[in-house]
This record gives sequence, C-alpha cells and structure tokens, in this order.
Amino acid sequence: MTQIETRGKAMLTHFDNGLSVYSHNQLYGKWMVCKAHDYPETKRQLRFAMHNDQKSALLYSASDIQILSSPSEIETHPFLSQLGPDVLQKGLQPQYLQLALRSQKYARRRLATLYLDQHFLAGIGNYLRSEILFIARLHPQRRPIDCTDAQLLALAEASIATAYQSYRYKGITNDLDLANELKAQGYHYRDYRYWVFGRSHQPCYVCGTAIIKAMVGNRRIYYCPHCQPLEASGHP
Ligand SMILES: [Zn+2]
Repeated sequence: MTQIETRGKAMLTHFDNGLSVYSHNQLYGKWMVCKAHDYPETKRQLRFAMHNDQKSALLYSASDIQILSSPSEIETHPFLSQLGPDVLQKGLQPQYLQLALRSQKYARRRLATLYLDQHFLAGIGNYLRSEILFIARLHPQRRPIDCTDAQLLALAEASIATAYQSYRYKGITNDLDLANELKAQGYHYRDYRYWVFGRSHQPCYVCGTAIIKAMVGNRRIYYCPHCQPLEASGHP
C-alpha cells in the first residue's frame, strides 16, 4: 500500500501494483486496526482487509467497495467524478478556491448552501461550515458575488486552514490559545471547542453578542450577527 487518499467521505487506498481500492463507509462502515491476523470479536461482516507483518487493517460492514485499475477509472468513477476537491487534498491552494467562488457556477449561491455542496468542496462537515464562515466573518446568507476579492481569499484560506486545524487538534476549530485558556478555566470540551457551532444564545467569544442558530438545507448553522453582518459595510 503506497497511499491513502480521502475524497469527501470516500477513501482511495492505492497499491504499488497500480490498483486502487475505492471504499465508501456510508453511515455504517467501520475500520479496525489490530495485531496482524488477530481479528476482533464482532458480528460485522469483513469486507476488505490489508495485512503486513505487524498489523491488520480491516474494513467491516461497508457495502460500497470497488477495485479501480487505472487513474482514468478513478477520474470517471460516478461518485468521485462529481466531487469537488477535498478540503484536505494535498496541494489545494486557497487561490484555486477563490477562483471557484468567483466562477459563474458558484458566485450567486448563498454561502450557507454552497458550503454543503460536495461538488464545490468535498469533506466539509456541518460544523466546519459554521466555523469557517465565522472565521471569515461572512454571514451565511451572503453570496460570493457580494464579497470583495480580499474577503473571498480570506474565506478560501479559512476553509483549508480550519479543516487542517480540526484534523490536527481533535476537532478544535476555536482559536487554540483561547481554547487552552477556556480549558484552564474549567470549560468542557464541547464549550471551548467551537467559535459558534452549537453555541446558540451564548456570547460570541469576540464581541459578546448572542450567537444565532438557523436552519439551512435542513442542517443547523450558527453565526454571530455582529461579527458576520449581512450587509457589506465600508469595504471598497
Ligand atoms: Zn461576534
């Protein structure tokens, strides 16, 4: 095995013989890693297994597994070909996202719906949507076309940086110094983890205004009405 790659919620496991295994866990697949060939007790069905001398990596229950034999088979795969770039994809540049935001396809979409669209950007969980828009100080109902180039670049940078921070720091998307300070003051993980997500009616960590919860695309979204004004003000 040479590389593991995520594409949204799908995974590609690449091998040195040129084959790749596509797997999608849906809501029920589960990876388990154990001592080599020391299978865990489970009623789940084993669907895919990889072994080396020390360890076995086992995928249980997942129903969507395919062997793909070439890069072109990967690029034309029905699920993968519909996806935008993965937010954690190596080499993804903020400038690329900034261009996509400005494109005719996306410029008139509300940010709140755009950030749920896996064609635009894959791998953004629902909590990341709220956190990224807060960090970029953009109201969920704003559209890219209402934003300045600087705001779009800040949004693109926040999208990538926040996803990486969450991945590296156990899902903490709040400012890391602030999170540490709150933790030292006795706050629980669920309270210091996020800037706004799940914090309706609680004071914004920046300005003290009560955080608002709204529903967009059947999913809850949170924002600060003061830090993320709907109307653009004062920018060129
Ligand atoms: Zn605020």
